[in-house]
Amino acid sequence: MSSAYAPPLQEIEFVLDTVARLDELASLPAFAHVDPDTVKGALQEAGRWVSEIVAPLNHSGDRQHSVRHPDGTVTTPDGFRGAYQQWVTAGWGSVPFPTEYGGGGFPWTVGVAVHEMLASANMALSLCPLLTQGAIDLLLAHGSDAQRARYLPAMINGEWTGTMNLTEPHAGSDVGALTTKATQDADGRWRVSGQKIFITYGEHDLAPNIVHLVLARVPDAPPGSRGISCFAVPKRLINPDGSLGQANQVTCLSIEEKLGIHASPTCVLAFEDAYAELIGEPNRGMQYMFTMMNNARLSVGLQGVAVGQAAYQQAVDYARERIQARTLDPRSTAIIGHPDVRRMLLTQKATLEAARALVYLVAGALDQADSHPDQSVRDEQHELVELLTPVAKAWSTDIGVTTTSLALQVHGGMGYIEETGIAQYYRDSRIAPIYEGTNGIQAIDLVTRKLPRRDGMVVKELIARMAEAERDLAQAEHGLKQLTPALSDALDALTQATEHLQQAQLEDKLAGASPYLEMMGLVVGGWLMAHEAMAAQHQLGQTTCHDEAFLEAKLVTTRFYLRQLLPKARALLPAVIAGAGDLMEMPPEQF
Ligand SMILES: Cc1cc2nc3c(=O)[nH]c(=O)nc-3n(C[C@H](O)[C@H](O)[C@H](O)COP(=O)(O)OP(=O)(O)OC[C@H]3O[C@@H](n4cnc5c(N)ncnc54)[C@H](O)[C@@H]3O)c2cc1C
Repeated sequence: MSSAYAPPLQEIEFVLDTVARLDELASLPAFAHVDPDTVKGALQEAGRWVSEIVAPLNHSGDRQHSVRHPDGTVTTPDGFRGAYQQWVTAGWGSVPFPTEYGGGGFPWTVGVAVHEMLASANMALSLCPLLTQGAIDLLLAHGSDAQRARYLPAMINGEWTGTMNLTEPHAGSDVGALTTKATQDADGRWRVSGQKIFITYGEHDLAPNIVHLVLARVPDAPPGSRGISCFAVPKRLINPDGSLGQANQVTCLSIEEKLGIHASPTCVLAFEDAYAELIGEPNRGMQYMFTMMNNARLSVGLQGVAVGQAAYQQAVDYARERIQARTLDPRSTAIIGHPDVRRMLLTQKATLEAARALVYLVAGALDQADSHPDQSVRDEQHELVELLTPVAKAWSTDIGVTTTSLALQVHGGMGYIEETGIAQYYRDSRIAPIYEGTNGIQAIDLVTRKLPRRDGMVVKELIARMAEAERDLAQAEHGLKQLTPALSDALDALTQATEHLQQAQLEDKLAGASPYLEMMGLVVGGWLMAHEAMAAQHQLGQTTCHDEAFLEAKLVTTRFYLRQLLPKARALLPAVIAGAGDLMEMPPEQF
């Protein structure tokens, strides 16, 4: 009963052009071979493939689940193997990686666009390449030449997959509490022993080998996160000629029964004296994790947008068909004619567009930070990435939950019935605020580590940049000028909140962290929507690749966001500045 996913290519291309600035990225020497038109052609092909091959497996995969067998092997749902093989053959996973190891050498931003469509079509399947991407990033940054040569070509082309093994039963957000051990043989080879939980695609049948990146402690390691080392532990050992050798001592003990992403096997893995290779130096594992964390967190933020988008499309289809009570809208007898249903749909559309813009802004900045020839530009873009990554992760995944919930609500009682398929999006999206650092941890990172950067100047410069757009908006046409006070007020609230938190005591900062992150997401989203609307206004009446109806809709969506959603930014101010008093006053037993 669920409707087909149609990739929002026009919207993705518009954001690539106006927010991520694909043309500027393509002009960097590192991307000399990248032509924006070719990129758009490739995205259309990726969109066609995900909608025809991957999306039809989404609901069947949810019903069938991945299954663990008594011998510890895991089978993914019907059709997953074939679809994954096509992903490998087409080379979609290799798009953003260096050509030296068989990658496409494209900007990270292009890979983000491919991943958005894959995750919309089938979030559970998309997690396998996503985790592989994280493992590749870490090996690229910290693996030795020999390790890169051994692992990267097969991982980049997707022939082998990768996992990230941090979590243990008593070590979740507090990764430093982990106890998995690594010891050295008499011949100097490392062996890892311990148990990891919640390992995404820790065992599966999509590929013959899995490269587990495992955090463990070497003998005499300092306590906490300063004593964590990173190891590569392949499921099957690799012979000197590159062929696969014997099985390593890694066992999938069980897979979790979950709320959503049923097709993604979430494994308990036991490592029993498993052969391992140390990555980099001992006790620097957490530091290494941080280097790939921005990319990984951004990819999870993208999941919020992607799943929200798929649910939104289905809600629109349903609202166009379901007839219930006479509407006051002469254009439609279906529920899409009711203002309250319109509110639900427009809230989804507007917040998803704002969150997508935020994610693609950070993706473009990541590319500039990695590849711009000018060091000062690289530094500036890196600072922007650092500041906005926790917001892109947490705000976008919270939006994933609120928009899928609204999409379900549009279906009325049928939304609560699994047959409709909409409930799956709601269930699937719920994990994204939890993994890759809970959203609470993201907010704490924002206020304690990111706001103080360069004596508070990084956030101040971002606010100043947003204030410039406010001045441009005041000159704009098509009803955009009237939105200036809304953006000004939100920026004023963000400035007050920021200055307050910069002076606050630690406990008060921690208390205000989550509402502050939400405020920052709303305001940055408003700024980017205003920026997009000004670009749309400029393109109206000109010959562009975007049709007039799309550009007009962008203006309406922006007006709705700035006038009706953005004012919540000021409403969050009391919660940001209240301090820890009310929260911490009651003794725990009174809850
Ligand atoms: C489906 C799924 C897939 C996963 N995939 C992987 C994977 O591939 N690899 C992997 O290593 N892990 C994976 N995880 C684990 C995931 O990253 C952790 O669940 C997550 O980091 C939270 O840890 P926790 O579950 O122990 O929660 P806890 O850390 O116990 O947190 C519980 C609550 O307390 C809050 N909290 C904790 N500490 C603080 C603090 N200092 N200040 C304020 N609030 C705090 C949290 O925000 C949260 O709301 C996965 C989990 C799931 C469910």
